[in-house]
Amino acid sequence: MGLDAFVRCRCWEDGTYHPPPPIPAERIGVVDGSLEPLVDGEWRDFDRWKRTACAHPDMDAACVLAELTYFDALPDVGTETVLLDEGSGEVETRLVSPAEFAYVVEPLRRVCQVSVETGNPVVWC
Ligand SMILES: [Zn+2]
Repeated sequence: MGLDAFVRCRCWEDGTYHPPPPIPAERIGVVDGSLEPLVDGEWRDFDRWKRTACAHPDMDAACVLAELTYFDALPDVGTETVLLDEGSGEVETRLVSPAEFAYVVEPLRRVCQVSVETGNPVVWC
């Protein structure tokens, strides 16, 4: 199970995209936090345009792809925790530092920071 999320950029609202979308702007809207065509059957050309319409791939200002299995393995930070060394099978008890979880926490912090900067919500997928 994944804990994926993205934040849409502001290029649609700010008009900083190029070229114009392949369908009229009044048939484009934000649905569940994502910029989408509002009429069925207009996805293919719209998706192709959206991929490169601005400096942000797919008009996402930030995204994170995190596997929940990482979180299953997260012990409480700053507490003495029993860890199993899968290589040797030995059990170790030690304090866990926040830095050990930076690979999970930093992408999540970044997506939340971009949400504040853009004013667009974090969309969890
Ligand atoms: Zn953009």
